[in-house]
Amino acid sequence: MDRTTTPIQLLPRRSGVPRQPLAAGSPAPLDRLGRAVHDLRISVTDRCNFRCTYCMPKEVFGADYAFLPRSELLTFEEIERLARTFVRLGVGKLRITGGEPLVRRDLPILVGLLAAIRTPDGEPVDLTLTTNGSALRHLARPLREAGLGRVTVSLDSLDDEVFRAMNGVDYPVAKVLDGIAAARAAGLANIKINMVVRRGVNESSIVPMARWARAEGLILRFIEYMDVGHSNGWQLDEVVPAGEVVAAIDAAMPLEPVAANYPGEVAARWRYRDGDGEVGVISSVTQPFCADCTRARLSAEGTLYTCLFAVSGHDLRGPLRDGATDDELAGLVDGIWRIRADRYSELRTAATGSLPKVEMFAMGG
Ligand code: SAM
Ligand code: SF4
Ligand code: SF4
Repeated sequence: MDRTTTPIQLLPRRSGVPRQPLAAGSPAPLDRLGRAVHDLRISVTDRCNFRCTYCMPKEVFGADYAFLPRSELLTFEEIERLARTFVRLGVGKLRITGGEPLVRRDLPILVGLLAAIRTPDGEPVDLTLTTNGSALRHLARPLREAGLGRVTVSLDSLDDEVFRAMNGVDYPVAKVLDGIAAARAAGLANIKINMVVRRGVNESSIVPMARWARAEGLILRFIEYMDVGHSNGWQLDEVVPAGEVVAAIDAAMPLEPVAANYPGEVAARWRYRDGDGEVGVISSVTQPFCADCTRARLSAEGTLYTCLFAVSGHDLRGPLRDGATDDELAGLVDGIWRIRADRYSELRTAATGSLPKVEMFAMGG
């Protein structure tokens, strides 16, 4: 895996990031393209119990793969401090992810810490989590009780054979469906389902998944297969364009577009013309949305990435463990955000296939 980190002591020289403490009442930072920071995705582990072919193929992530040792991971208290720093700078939405976040022990404790964070206006943050659903039967209730508001479950097919092959560990669909039922029973509202579509693998699952999600009252989002990391051997011809997904559903159940909930919403939304329900498509390959991208990613070992396709990140764990004050941490992140100019998906060309990239499970998908 390619995990390149910029040591913090080099930052002033290499990137011009100031290390001054942030003064109270400083305005929220904008990056070089005028984008604020609104969302923080927090990876709590680089480990996972699945081996999805498009993310952590088992041929690469086998028994001898060196995952991060525990001492390298941010503690829950460190994650909370950094999350507070981002909220001070304008973040209103925190998404816990991984790897598979539910394999991190005692996760409800972290959820409790994050749920207690308030914005500068005293509002609670929107706290959500993305999971493969396999541990929701046991964890949905403790997570809900700790303050988790919402959950997104990844599910790539209802066809057991297709799903077992895609998750790489022969995991049955029925157990994920049971996890979704547990999330509902625990009171987690607005459950979303993520489905990655890969040409020749699960296209035939698009319409059945749409019918099922509609009947169940779940919001389904189709994700174009992306060229994250190096391990999945991504090829452009394996991407099913979002437009094709919408056309396939529209032919079975007519759709019409819905306006975005807010600027920067990742999914383009469509609703059924003949009644309730909607689907979303995330077209990061065919229709990039970098101009509105307000997302930052914090990896499990405390590296800040300002783009999903970033080649390198900024180490926040070092200053955190070296005793940086809250104002110093805020000054550091503020400075990193202000020099951000990422727009990888807009710039994606055939040549980028050879560029180094960090794996999605490592930086937080
Ligand atoms: N393990 C959790 C899960 O699968 O939901 C959270 C982490 S996973 C990296 C977050 C999301 O990224 C999942 O919905 C997954 O399907 C998606 N994903 C992973 N690799 C991808 C790829 N190459 N292209 C598009 N989406 C991908
Ligand atoms: Fe694990 Fe999620 Fe990646 Fe699948 S997509 S291998 S469940 S981290
Ligand atoms: Fe944001 Fe980078 Fe994705 Fe563009 S490529 S939308 S900047 S994460």
